[in-house]
Amino acid sequence: MSATPAPRGDFPILARTVRRGLPLVYLDSGATSQRPQRVLDAVRAMDTQHNGAVKRGAHLLAEEASEAYERAREQVAAFIGAAPDEIVWASGSTQAINLVAYAMSNVSAGRGDSVESRRGVDPHVFSVGPGDVIVTTRAEHHANIIPWQELCLRTGATLRWLDLDAEGRIDLSTLDRIDEHTKLVAFTHVSNVSGAISPVAQIVEAARKVGALTFLDACQSVPHIPVDFHELGVDFAAFSGHKMLGPTGIGALYGRAELLRALPPYQFGGSMIEVVTMEKTTYADPPARFEAGTMPVAQAIGMGEAAVYLTEIGMDKIARYEAELTRRMLASLTKMPGIRILGPEGESNRTGAVAFAVDGVHPHDVGQFLDSKGIAVRVGHHCAQPIHQHFGVFASTRASLGPYNTVEEVDYFVESLAEVRRYFRVED
Ligand code: PMP
Repeated sequence: MSATPAPRGDFPILARTVRRGLPLVYLDSGATSQRPQRVLDAVRAMDTQHNGAVKRGAHLLAEEASEAYERAREQVAAFIGAAPDEIVWASGSTQAINLVAYAMSNVSAGRGDSVESRRGVDPHVFSVGPGDVIVTTRAEHHANIIPWQELCLRTGATLRWLDLDAEGRIDLSTLDRIDEHTKLVAFTHVSNVSGAISPVAQIVEAARKVGALTFLDACQSVPHIPVDFHELGVDFAAFSGHKMLGPTGIGALYGRAELLRALPPYQFGGSMIEVVTMEKTTYADPPARFEAGTMPVAQAIGMGEAAVYLTEIGMDKIARYEAELTRRMLASLTKMPGIRILGPEGESNRTGAVAFAVDGVHPHDVGQFLDSKGIAVRVGHHCAQPIHQHFGVFASTRASLGPYNTVEEVDYFVESLAEVRRYFRVED
């Protein structure tokens, strides 16, 4: 078996067998990735050795838990080129996106002054109303469409979107939809369907030119390619722990420090305040301002460990390796009769999330057939119906790679897929 950048022995689950004792071939990392022992151990150590309320107690456990929680924030921040106070814990990308959308409607509802704009940015940059525009793209996961649709419905702003070309890449000829009315451009770094890497620099430039903010959904990029949010120049970004070898229930919002300082909170309660009287409350500085209540502390520590694990392997190395596997998969799939790739057919400027339609066979049947061979893939619309509408299909099958997948697994997947149309008797 070929060497993988993330040693397979690090991942206990990869040793298990599935149907009829077949080895597990896990090609669903785009949905959720598997976790190395180190991450499992970090979570367990928190639960068995250090569990205490973060930033609330005067005892040793509370101190250890608080330190580990903040260390994890530093680890995650270092992983994506940010300062620790630019990382807000969230339950995942979905919550991180909703956080900004709801904070923006709080400004729009007149609560922009609930935080003092102590250092610079006027909170009213977040205010949207009739005549204002939010721009997204047709390539988005629902998590990066619906919060903005709802923000528009609450405030009277208008939602526009960038369209896609035949390969599912963002069509730069539609960039003029970002105009002087645009307040925010929310777009994905990598599509969870097509695997296409977005032209971040061009979109950020178009947004900056008109004074609009940018929000990058980095859920599918952070686990697979080197990412530095400062270098990319985006204002906000979201990513999830469970897609980057970390636990579920944890993710992060990145926000440029001065923007987070000007953003009002969207959830209210313990640990996010300075002073509370019965009449009035003043709010803590970020990131605490956005972490109301008791957070998933052990999970945050697990996500920090995942960031360190990936950093030690090297994201360059992972990106190169996964590109090679993607090239191999695409080279076979593009030659296979009855298979249509929903995304770029070449390996450049894309990742290893490869969605495809099988002529004459429903994705659920494809998924079940592959499952009978021990291969786990995703079927359905992958929470991205608009891009499927663009490709003219309701649903698809998606194989998606992780740093533990082998060349042999890719070849086995390709061989198995080659049988699917014969099995369902739809061969030409
Ligand atoms: N954006 C993209 C591109 C995704 O792939 C996903 C998860 N499939 C999400 C957002 C939502 O992530 P989560 O469910 O972890 O909040």
